[in-house]
Amino acid sequence: MPEYVLTFIVNSDDDYKDSLPPDITEDLQHWTIPTRNTTTAPTKTYKGSTREYRRFWQASTDVQPTLTPPSAPSPRERMSKHQWHFFWSLTIPHNVRNFWWRLLLNKLPTRLHRHRHQPLQCPTNTCTFCNTAIEDNYHMVVGCPVKQTFWRYVLTLMDLQHDLTTIWNWITFYDLPRNKTGLDQHRSNLTMLGKALTIIWQQHWRSVLGDEPWNDQLAASSFRLLLWKQGNGVVLE
Ligand SMILES: [Zn+2]
Repeated sequence: MPEYVLTFIVNSDDDYKDSLPPDITEDLQHWTIPTRNTTTAPTKTYKGSTREYRRFWQASTDVQPTLTPPSAPSPRERMSKHQWHFFWSLTIPHNVRNFWWRLLLNKLPTRLHRHRHQPLQCPTNTCTFCNTAIEDNYHMVVGCPVKQTFWRYVLTLMDLQHDLTTIWNWITFYDLPRNKTGLDQHRSNLTMLGKALTIIWQQHWRSVLGDEPWNDQLAASSFRLLLWKQGNGVVLE
């Protein structure tokens, strides 16, 4: 079955944006694809099934169907050769490179993904940490409110003022330079973020497999330990 990419114009002045259900525009906040080299406004894309596409645009439908959180196009589809080289050259733990690589390929074992493919083993697509949202890639990595205290801690340590959408757009290379020189200026930040991803991954599975609640203190101390072991020069509290 073919897939359609619906493109929503974000910075448009016309009424088009207002015609979208608010939950759609909210859900897609992290999928802004920057268009730094063109004058085109940033766009958000959403890869929907034929059925979703048809139902969404059916004018005769009185009640618009609630779309399930969509699968964004994988970062791989737009990453440049230099971005891949940069990714493989980062000094980060081996296990997180695998996690990160799966994120770039849209192959993370999220509940959304597992529920879709193994509904018996994974009977729900709802996040086990917050129990309020569907666990897609974004939610699993940075979007879950339960994990955001840790992310805020990481950003404070890194002295970054950016919001998590920006961090997501860096991790997925959506908002990073496409050439080597530009990428090298982001090396230390991306290395740090890679280490933060290590902790997210470890703590995520520690909680899921060990049936333990998410532990912010443990996540923060594990992150500090990782930085200390790998000589980032961060002073331990
Ligand atoms: Zn959650």
